[in-house]
Amino acid sequence: MPARKIIIVALPGDGIGPEVTRQAVRALETIAEHGECRLEIHEHPAGGCAVDEFGTPLPRATLDACLGANAVLLGAVGGPKWDDRPRSQRPETGLLQLRSALGGFANLRPATFLPALSDCSPLRPEVAGQADIVVVRELLGGLYFGEPRGYDREAGEAHNTMRYGAEEVGRIARVAFDLARGRRRKVTSVDKANVLEVSQLWRQTVQQVAHAYPDVALDHMYVDACAMHLVTNPARFDVILTENLFGDVLSDEAAALTGSLGMLPSATIGGPVNLYEPIHGSAPDIAGRDIANPLGAIASAAMLLRYSGALPQAASHIEAAITAVLKAGYRTADLARGRAGQVVGTTEMGSLVCGAIRDAYERQFAYHAV
Ligand code: NAD
Repeated sequence: MPARKIIIVALPGDGIGPEVTRQAVRALETIAEHGECRLEIHEHPAGGCAVDEFGTPLPRATLDACLGANAVLLGAVGGPKWDDRPRSQRPETGLLQLRSALGGFANLRPATFLPALSDCSPLRPEVAGQADIVVVRELLGGLYFGEPRGYDREAGEAHNTMRYGAEEVGRIARVAFDLARGRRRKVTSVDKANVLEVSQLWRQTVQQVAHAYPDVALDHMYVDACAMHLVTNPARFDVILTENLFGDVLSDEAAALTGSLGMLPSATIGGPVNLYEPIHGSAPDIAGRDIANPLGAIASAAMLLRYSGALPQAASHIEAAITAVLKAGYRTADLARGRAGQVVGTTEMGSLVCGAIRDAYERQFAYHAV
């Protein structure tokens, strides 16, 4: 049977986006080299670079290409150069438009504490333990999209609206419960139900959905308590289910605890085309120096293979390659910070991961040849 063809639109974006996306694409190409899939990868401008070239952060041609693909792989967008632009010309506006058009409402953000990086976590190893968390963040509702919104500069007043409907809460809750079934069967739903009516609806709806999942344990936690438990006892969490704003904050916190923002991938699923991106931003402070950590982008490519390519084994090869390279002591600058290990640049880290993927396939072929 011919290998599955996957059409991917790559949106490298701004800052370190192009540097880390290049390494993610190399990892995908290494998988394709071994006959797992056929890849068609098309690169398009999005974010600040698209504002410079086309006057808009999400040109029509980019959006059309994304809508016609099997998956979108994004680097990062934004930077100080575009901070003072009107809202329609801000890179983040393009990203929100893209997410909205692709229709993915569930953002999955795994945060796994790797033993090889225990010295990078700000937590003591006995506190970090073997924490392995996925934050399931609702991505199309809440404060980031709610209307009315506005900033009346003359009056010195601004407002946003947090709004959720039971249907939106129900569908994201089902994603979290389904995911928990393939893991340790525990969902912690995070809200602020002691203060916000929206959170009261959230809690009630999640409770109703839970009836269909008697095999999954559910607990509820206020967002402030969750922020605290993440630093005092992260191993207590399996799947954290939460709304857009809380998820944005908590997933960055969980990420930082694992060692570096640069390590962590994300997937946005549930719409016609899934979107994969590292959780970090465009890091203008280190852009163009070949020192950014590409592992979050590479791990995002692994999620792409798992969720859009239906190639879980290929995804596991990439994830195992990342672990092997770190275990061998290689570190990008963000992970090294004066600790033991060999410091390598973005491109070299990509080469090491590709080498480890090839080693895994060679071992697999040798095993089958015996
Ligand atoms: P950031 O994630 O870009 O950077 C925060 C810190 O982490 C910086 O010190 C940076 O050097 C470091 N860092 C981030 N990724 C790294 C990596 N892969 N390797 C090594 N170090 C890394 O967040 P920020 O500084 O708040 O935002 C910078 C720009 O990125 C802003 O314009 C923001 O709007 C944008 N942004 C974009 C996205 C996205 O495209 N999804 C997400 C967040 C922020």
